[in-house]
Amino acid sequence: MKQEVIIGVDLGATKILSGMGTPDGQILQKARTGTPEGSPEEVLDMIAGTIADLIRNARTRQYSIKGIAAAVPGPLTFPEAVIENSPNLGWQRVEFKKELSQRLGKTVVVDKDTNLAALGEYYYGQDKKYKDLLYITVSTGIGGGLIIDGQIYHGHRGGGGEIGHMVIDPAGPECRCGRRGCLEALASGTAIALHLEKLIKAGRGRQIEICGAGAEIGAAHLGEAARQGDSEAVKIMEELSAHLARGIANLVNIFDPPIVVMGGGVMEGLGDLLLEPIRTITREQVFPLHRRDLQIEITRLGDDIGLYGCMAAIARGI
Ligand SMILES: [Zn+2]
Repeated sequence: MKQEVIIGVDLGATKILSGMGTPDGQILQKARTGTPEGSPEEVLDMIAGTIADLIRNARTRQYSIKGIAAAVPGPLTFPEAVIENSPNLGWQRVEFKKELSQRLGKTVVVDKDTNLAALGEYYYGQDKKYKDLLYITVSTGIGGGLIIDGQIYHGHRGGGGEIGHMVIDPAGPECRCGRRGCLEALASGTAIALHLEKLIKAGRGRQIEICGAGAEIGAAHLGEAARQGDSEAVKIMEELSAHLARGIANLVNIFDPPIVVMGGGVMEGLGDLLLEPIRTITREQVFPLHRRDLQIEITRLGDDIGLYGCMAAIARGI
């Protein structure tokens, strides 16, 4: 019998991950390219070209193509996948699924990147061990996906799961969404970089600056300075973990998931340095009932999680 494969594309604001894998979760091929800075049409043309190459490649290897899926930044409707006012992409309104499917002459399943990441984690990261799961990504922005009873929770129009825009501190910094003190405005990679920049300008971030060694300062340098015991870096790490834990505790009290899985560049980069205090503070802030079996982990699917999500969407359905 021919090997069945799934083709997936994970569109990010700066990078596009594309590849193919098997329904049981083996990635056979993957590649990363920069996201074109042009119009949505140019980005769609490029993605269609990448998928067409993958289709040709699969056919050459005598694979049978089970389906094609794409993960895109939100907010977007589901299942039509109309991207609306995306702050990450800077797109106003793009009928993504329709446009991409038309270019390929094939139907493409499209959902929000964080929803598909949650689905990928549910099937391939946790092997369906838990029927409810909360996935949170901390990278340039903060987003999430909620699996309830084995299904992605989409909400009424598809906009569910925008957890980065949960207000944590009403007096906090302005967020791109127009409100103040959203989790994303306090604890995303972008927020961390802004915070560090201010600190360095004020002359209080010398050790963090040294760790940066002339590169653009970010979460990784903060982590390094904190590991070296720099008091400013330790203080920022404490604030960061407290903000994230407060957001997670709110969600745990509402949804009572058995597991919270975290991913994204900031989480992967800071690892246990961020995970351990998040675990401790979250557990302090939820009810004993919610705390009893609660697991908080970092995904083992790394930054391929969006591709796993595409594979899950086709292999298991959304
Ligand atoms: Zn916001």
